[in-house]
Amino acid sequence: MAANIIDGKQIGAAIKEQLAAELVELKGRGIAVRLATILVGADAGSTVYAQSQAKTSFAIGIDHVLVHIDGGAGQAALETKIQELNSDPTVSGIMISMPLPKGYDAGRAQNLISPFKDVEGTGAANLGAIFQGDFTMAPCTAAAAYKCIHSQPAIAVKGAEVVIVGRSTIVGKPLAMMLVQDHATVTVCHTATKDMMGHCRSADILVAAAGKANLITAEYVRPGAVVIDVGINRVNVTDASGAVKAKTVGDVDYESVSNAASWITPVPGGVGPVTVAMLLKNTVEAAKKIAYRKSV
Ligand code: NAD
Repeated sequence: MAANIIDGKQIGAAIKEQLAAELVELKGRGIAVRLATILVGADAGSTVYAQSQAKTSFAIGIDHVLVHIDGGAGQAALETKIQELNSDPTVSGIMISMPLPKGYDAGRAQNLISPFKDVEGTGAANLGAIFQGDFTMAPCTAAAAYKCIHSQPAIAVKGAEVVIVGRSTIVGKPLAMMLVQDHATVTVCHTATKDMMGHCRSADILVAAAGKANLITAEYVRPGAVVIDVGINRVNVTDASGAVKAKTVGDVDYESVSNAASWITPVPGGVGPVTVAMLLKNTVEAAKKIAYRKSV
């Protein structure tokens, strides 16, 4: 039987709708919400991504400012700009468009963002908060995968065997801690894992976040498991006419796995749109936290 689809577009749209209503209420209380995206250099992909963020923010009532820094400006100039934005009372959230050009220290820059404005949730303070059970500013992609799992009441997390393929700081590691907090038993696989198939086949919930197209085939999936595909990969495919076209696929071989799983997130249209919504949600949370701090 084909798996049920976890529709990320629908989940993302519902989050945005809720945020839009909340933003009206915040505006009424004099709380402005503004996201600043720092773009270093002129990487075409990052520029398009930053522009699309501005559009998505404006669409729900979040103000957006694109802060451009010349690619050759250097780490010190980037850090000065972050400090300026940290102390700018009109800015509620700061994010840095990745990848940074060669020679920049992304981790150092990320940790310089005030934890109150770190809307990507990748600074040490917000990652640490997850260990304490506070997910309010969790990394957007981990939060999106978590939201997809929890979007279906039929998916039991407490007591579930969860296997996450990928141990990055923005997905695998924070998601593992979040699900442990929810009483799941979590295994994290990576490139040095022995018997990855054995681990994956034991999963009630399998999360693929490796960045490898079609890594997870049906043999990796226990029949009836929930499969969350975080991967976004561009591959070339040949269509019926013999023409080669670029296509976006996940880490999961959707065709075979959707016949084994009970629930599955498609790519595109799964975790991706929820990640976009989570960035907006974190920005609204940041504005609320800043307003609360001012009020006490
Ligand atoms: P990353 O490269 O930082 O980490 C990948 C992890 O996967 C590493 O821990 C590595 O050990 C592991 N890995 C790689 N190949 C493996 C293999 N063959 N077997 C087992 N483990 C393997 O990547 P990331 O930033 O965490 O992103 C992961 C994927 O998620 C990418 O495809 C990325 O494009 C995608 N992504 C999606 C969204 C979204 O909104 N859906 C957001 C961010 C990233």
